[in-house]
Amino acid sequence: MSEVESPAATAPLSTAPLSTYETSAAVIAGREAAFEARGLTKIYHMGEVDVQALRGIDLALYEGEFVVLLGPSGSGKSTLLNILGGLDIPTAGSVRYHHHDLTAAGESALTRYRREHVGFVFQFYNLIPSLTAEENVALVTEISTSPMRPDEALRLVGLGERLHHFPAQLSGGEQQRVAIARAVAKRPSVLLCDEPTGALDVRTGIVVLEAIERINRDLGTTTVVITHNASIADMADRVISLSDGRISGVKHNTTKKSPHELEW
Ligand code: ADP
Repeated sequence: MSEVESPAATAPLSTAPLSTYETSAAVIAGREAAFEARGLTKIYHMGEVDVQALRGIDLALYEGEFVVLLGPSGSGKSTLLNILGGLDIPTAGSVRYHHHDLTAAGESALTRYRREHVGFVFQFYNLIPSLTAEENVALVTEISTSPMRPDEALRLVGLGERLHHFPAQLSGGEQQRVAIARAVAKRPSVLLCDEPTGALDVRTGIVVLEAIERINRDLGTTTVVITHNASIADMADRVISLSDGRISGVKHNTTKKSPHELEW
């Protein structure tokens, strides 16, 4: 069961002064906003041509929330995710992660923000082929302040029996789960996933989504998953649809499906 809200339903919140917005957001959601974005605009200059990737996004994402960003290719999903993750900055507008103003931050502050708070998972796993699963995860834990042990992170994604395997000895889904373990081993408060099942078959994709769901549920990690697959939306707390650089819909799922119940 789900209930559909038009984007206009969120408009009074997003146009209110920040302090009022913070208060009402806390009351409405019963929890704190992790991210607040206002008027996010991104224009890429390609020679003579300007590509407008985001056209004024107003958005709040809440602590511990599982959000699916849904939309066709080219609708601005990756651009938005990269801005939330401090990999890119908007052309105009503002975005805040708690007290961090990501718009005003310089390169070194953004690097620190990413290192301390954000785990990324991409469509392609980017594992180092000459290192085992455990060593790939250890690359991150060695430079983190209070990480999990690599084997602990790998157990969390169901790979406790694959610690000493090299990437070439793992299936695509297992490699993606190593990448998820690597992203969460530093205990980030935010997990940003860009098409994490895009390269996987359905059955493998479900196992990967189960790993992401478990992290969101067990660690309370605020999780954003990009997909163009509408079925994955059923496992989210909230589905934000993008179309041509704008939010075209926001849907709250009153009941969430577990990944093995998804059909696509
Ligand atoms: P999605 O993730 O929904 O597929 P993107 O955010 O990747 O969409 O892209 C939105 C628009 O911005 C597209 O038209 C894309 O071609 C353009 N775009 C994205 N990244 C760049 C870039 N680095 N340089 C130029 N144009 C870009």
